[in-house]
Amino acid sequence: MLSTMQDAPLLISNMVRHGEWLYGDKKVFTVHADRVQEGTFFEISQRAEKLAKALTKLGVGDGDRVGTFMWNNQEHMEAYLAVPSMGAVLHTLNIRLFPEQLAFIINHADDKVIICDGSLIPLLAKVRDQLPNVQHIIVSGAGDRSLLGDVLDYEELLAAEKPGIVWPTFDERKAAAMCYTSGTTGDPKGVVYSHRSTWLHSLASMSSNSIGLSERDRTLLIVPMFHVNAWGVAYTAFFSGCEIIMPQMFLQGEPILNMSKTLRPTIALGVPTVWNDVLRAAAADPSADLSSLRGILCGGAAVPRSMIEAFKAKFGVEVVQGWGMTETSPLAAVSIPPYGSDPTHEVDYRVKAGRVVAGVQLRIVDDAGNVLPRDGKSVGEFEIAGPWITGSYYGVEAPDKFHDGWLRTGDVGTLDGEGFMVISDRSKDVIKSGGEWISSVELENEVIAHDGVFEAAVVAVPDARWDERPLCCVVRNPESGVTAEELREFLASRVAKWWIPERWTFIDSVPKTSTGKFDKKVLRAAYAAGELDVVQFD
Ligand code: ADP
Repeated sequence: MLSTMQDAPLLISNMVRHGEWLYGDKKVFTVHADRVQEGTFFEISQRAEKLAKALTKLGVGDGDRVGTFMWNNQEHMEAYLAVPSMGAVLHTLNIRLFPEQLAFIINHADDKVIICDGSLIPLLAKVRDQLPNVQHIIVSGAGDRSLLGDVLDYEELLAAEKPGIVWPTFDERKAAAMCYTSGTTGDPKGVVYSHRSTWLHSLASMSSNSIGLSERDRTLLIVPMFHVNAWGVAYTAFFSGCEIIMPQMFLQGEPILNMSKTLRPTIALGVPTVWNDVLRAAAADPSADLSSLRGILCGGAAVPRSMIEAFKAKFGVEVVQGWGMTETSPLAAVSIPPYGSDPTHEVDYRVKAGRVVAGVQLRIVDDAGNVLPRDGKSVGEFEIAGPWITGSYYGVEAPDKFHDGWLRTGDVGTLDGEGFMVISDRSKDVIKSGGEWISSVELENEVIAHDGVFEAAVVAVPDARWDERPLCCVVRNPESGVTAEELREFLASRVAKWWIPERWTFIDSVPKTSTGKFDKKVLRAAYAAGELDVVQFD
């Protein structure tokens, strides 16, 4: 062997050092009700060092889990950097889980310490007495601390330390962070990210074939840091020099428009529900200004064509669709129209889930596990593999989720000759009508294209003749009186006749999961319980 230099482990602490050294003046902006808090990468790195020292004094050792129960803010970023760099494991806790799920994941991961935002104390307090192994709770910011019993103050802990640390060196495959799936089916399952997977994922996020984050960017990070590492952006920031705007709890259309105007992000990341709300708010705000944005990265659920078109037509902003999941770190595919594509038809690419980013492999298989052709027609389940795709779940066996070294995604769709994936459904949401599949995603896309519709969710319901048929649940725009007859007529020229739903219901809002996606199981259950007012056609 000539040299061992190339074997240097890929550690998060290298990323921290890089950001601090090269981009020390770059900033993280945290939005509060009455002010914007600013911290430079240099300050954040120094505070991360102090946090690591304080955690060590509290007994956090190698491989111990440190939970965070926080909004997107600077202090959360400090924990993101400090905890893995010291050799412990960051466990981001989803603040929107039901109390029993929250207690389950804290205990399952065996968190030793939890860092909690003051504003979230009431939620953590609900489960405090069910967490026998949590030794310390550290509170950051104002809140009623008495609800939690004995707590430590984040700023006091940091004030007692001096910066300056030699971050330890270890195997790059060591666990750095973990996140539980949101448990839409069964108990949430833990996915562990390694230092190596995080490093490689960050490099992928900087590639211009993906989201191309660079030091010319300021990201508006709407996707939560409590779910899938905020799509990896906190780490990519220190690697690429891109700045971050942290919106905390201000996630509605109006404050997002305000941040866009005053803090001038170049790229914003969030699920479609958020962007739908931004369009709603913008319709009532003639001064809405998204001119600083070079793009919106939208994913986590299918992005409707009408939304992509509206951002382009009203604001000149390109929506870039991304696809991924907790198990894929999450960046796995991004939809960028290929070189030479006709500009007037670019949206045809943008409505697809995307092409895999370099480093990741993708295929589709049929029910028997046979690999299907890339012909844009054959429908099957996507399977994915690569260095930031999980190969197991933490502490549970789930053989049904893996297939010959590939992760079974549970997403169903087609893959075309250019490598673009189109997702027609999650396998648990597919509608099988008379043995043929109807895509709920495509139906939703078409219904929402109607001016009178704000949101639409399509779910499978039992049908005596066809086994299953689609039920369309519609949220109207405020002034709209659109009827089911009109929507059926609207669909007639847009989808195959046999796809048009017979059953329609008008609801106030579509129920959402903890990560802001449509919660279709709630709608199916409401239908089964006869709680929906359904109009039915022959
Ligand atoms: P959960 O939705 O259960 O919280 P994840 O956040 O891991 O779990 O979400 C992953 C799932 O989100 C994917 O398996 C897929 O069904 C869906 N998803 C993500 N991006 C897209 C996209 N661009 N189009 C359609 N579905 C998507």
